[in-house]
Amino acid sequence: MKADPTTAGGSDVLIIGGGLQGLSSALQLARRGCSVRLLEADYCGRHASGVNAGGVRTVYRHMAEVPLSVAARTLWHNLADLVGENPGFVASGQLKLAETEAELERLRQRVEQLNALGYTHEELVGPEVVRELVPALTPNISGAIWAADDGYAYPYGVVTAFRHACERLGVIIHEGTPADRIERIGERWQVDTPSQRFDADFLVNTAGAWAGEFARQVDEPVPLEAVGLMLMVTTRVAPFVKPVLGATGRALSFKQFANGTVVIGGGLTCAADPVAGHGEVDMMKLATSARTVTDLFPHLRGIAINRAWAGVEGFMPDHIPVISASRTRPNLVHAFGFSAHGFELSPIVGQIVAELLLDGRSTQPIAPFAIDRFAAAPAAASPSSSQSLAA
Ligand SMILES: Cc1cc2nc3c(=O)[nH]c(=O)nc-3n(C[C@H](O)[C@H](O)[C@H](O)COP(=O)(O)OP(=O)(O)OC[C@H]3O[C@@H](n4cnc5c(N)ncnc54)[C@H](O)[C@@H]3O)c2cc1C
Repeated sequence: MKADPTTAGGSDVLIIGGGLQGLSSALQLARRGCSVRLLEADYCGRHASGVNAGGVRTVYRHMAEVPLSVAARTLWHNLADLVGENPGFVASGQLKLAETEAELERLRQRVEQLNALGYTHEELVGPEVVRELVPALTPNISGAIWAADDGYAYPYGVVTAFRHACERLGVIIHEGTPADRIERIGERWQVDTPSQRFDADFLVNTAGAWAGEFARQVDEPVPLEAVGLMLMVTTRVAPFVKPVLGATGRALSFKQFANGTVVIGGGLTCAADPVAGHGEVDMMKLATSARTVTDLFPHLRGIAINRAWAGVEGFMPDHIPVISASRTRPNLVHAFGFSAHGFELSPIVGQIVAELLLDGRSTQPIAPFAIDRFAAAPAAASPSSSQSLAA
């Protein structure tokens, strides 16, 4: 296989969407010898992949995502081998805090369930260990789950590293090139954009919160919803916490970067305008989250918020993504709807997409992510559970 990519928009593979799932897919397909073109409506990393909280979290994942998140984490620890440069992953560990005995019981049951399945990456720890790991934390903590190999990375740096790796392997990236209409004509996919027509043997739909339109065009409508997700960042403070922290009973995910700033989020949803391509920051909700931070770290009262923003993310009603071969058309794979936690999964998603297209099956257990699982389901409900959204 290797169509001459210099001729009139042709390639083996066309990818729609230059977020991390699209770039990771492009990289894996190029590594396997395909000529790849990637169409990005704006610029790579403009949306969720470039503006997220950078959490590399296996802890407290939906059970269906556990195998993928563990496989992805192994890739994060060796990402320089994959992308050829160090994208700045920090293996800080992540702590999921219990503030009450009832929350601790939930965490205990979770760890027991994982252990019964053979997973040992989440460890239940008592308040003494939590205090050792984060001495500045309020003493009112009942315990936590500790995932020592989790961590975080700088999102835009990761996007850039994937992009460079793609380009080194000859992937042609067309920015400012929104795909409009997709159609299977004979043995090829044809994709129309305002400036040019492209065609390829294989097509990948990684258009993030906008991917539903392409699923619809191939008669696979999905209840994908574009939702805003907010983050805020403080001014610099002296180092006081190394691991990424998440709460259990309320919306919070929290990390301090090396430059001293503290990034606060954790599934803080807000309205989104997918046509304009932005989320609407909700100050009241951010204030509640800021209060959670000062409950946990009283010494931070008085710290200033420097910046707040909202990105647009695609949510599925069950908060797990679609990673699936099309059921209606050959040579088409969808990967979207990551519901606030797709950054961590991105290295493994590219591998799965390449396997589905080139081998016809994946080595990962992806049945829960089938595109047709909603065939008889009602329309998307607005996400409201802070816990399952926490990035
Ligand atoms: C504020 C925030 C915080 C988050 N925190 C975390 C976290 O800590 N950890 C974690 O694991 N996950 C986190 N996430 C989720 C994570 O960022 C996303 O799940 C992931 O980046 C999704 O990647 P993607 O490639 O599917 O989507 P995107 O990054 O949105 O990429 C899709 C791309 O498709 C392009 N596109 C759309 N329509 C077209 C078209 N017609 N033609 C061509 N291109 C098109 C868009 O411009 C976009 O660039 C967070 C998300 C947000 C918004």
